[in-house]
Amino acid sequence: MNDKIKQAYDLLASCRLCPRKCGVNRLKDEQGFCKAGLVPMVSSFHAHFGEEPPISGYSGSGTIFFTHCSLRCLFCQNYPISQMGEGKEVSTEELSNMMLALQKKGCHNINFVTPTHYMPQIIEAVFLARDKGLNIPLVYNCGGYESLESLEILKGIIDIYMPDMKYSDNSVAEKFSFAPDYFEVSKSAVKEMYSQVGDLKIEKGIAKKGLLIRHLVLPDGLAGSEAIFDFIVRELSPDTYVNIMAQYYPCHNSFKFPELSRRITRREYLDALDLAKHKRLSGGFRQVLKTIDRERVPEWTDDLKEI
Ligand code: SF4
Repeated sequence: MNDKIKQAYDLLASCRLCPRKCGVNRLKDEQGFCKAGLVPMVSSFHAHFGEEPPISGYSGSGTIFFTHCSLRCLFCQNYPISQMGEGKEVSTEELSNMMLALQKKGCHNINFVTPTHYMPQIIEAVFLARDKGLNIPLVYNCGGYESLESLEILKGIIDIYMPDMKYSDNSVAEKFSFAPDYFEVSKSAVKEMYSQVGDLKIEKGIAKKGLLIRHLVLPDGLAGSEAIFDFIVRELSPDTYVNIMAQYYPCHNSFKFPELSRRITRREYLDALDLAKHKRLSGGFRQVLKTIDRERVPEWTDDLKEI
């Protein structure tokens, strides 16, 4: 067995794939916080045209949506998949065939959505698929709550990291995502990702390699945007490609919390953009959602100044 695959599966024996380090034996199908067992579960796979333009391109991003999640955010918009187990078990052979089918369709990349808790199975499938001709970039589309040990294994395998940076206030992260160390963990993780792949490189409109950070603006400043932008500029690069997202809407358990029970206002979104500009993130800014009122149809722009 390939060394990387072996190292990855070793993490499952007393599971420490993610920073929760539950210690359950996933090789024996025991379940920890994320509820994932040994066999990976997938809810869907298809060409996705709603990702960021350099990710979706003109032929779509080859997304594979994994069931379960190591964060379980109370406002998760995909909660039937991430928290209620929607999906079906697939072998690593089937997973590799999904990748090849997406490549055959013309997708620009393979986009692993919520991959953290199935990292060993995913890389095993990647090696199988590569033997059969897979050669498009691999995107690791994750919540940003990642362990350095897992990321080290992914070095040289993943081409594009697409992590969230959700919160800078750990008390908020604890309340809504049960992750009281989220900010420190996500900062270390994103720094490691950046050291592996650098700034996003785009050729003829299509992303080939690099880091793309997503930041969802929450009501009442709960996401703590300023500290996150500050970190990105100071410790990564002002050229970091950041998608500041406006599409928050209350769902799942959000209604139990008054502060999460509404969409953000236009003013809140514009304030987040101002913060990004103020922190001089605008130099590397490439894309934001343009419309946040009423219809909320995502429109993309290439420059913050167009907002
Ligand atoms: S991947 Fe799941 S079982 Fe493993 S440490 Fe994280 S939450 Fe726990």
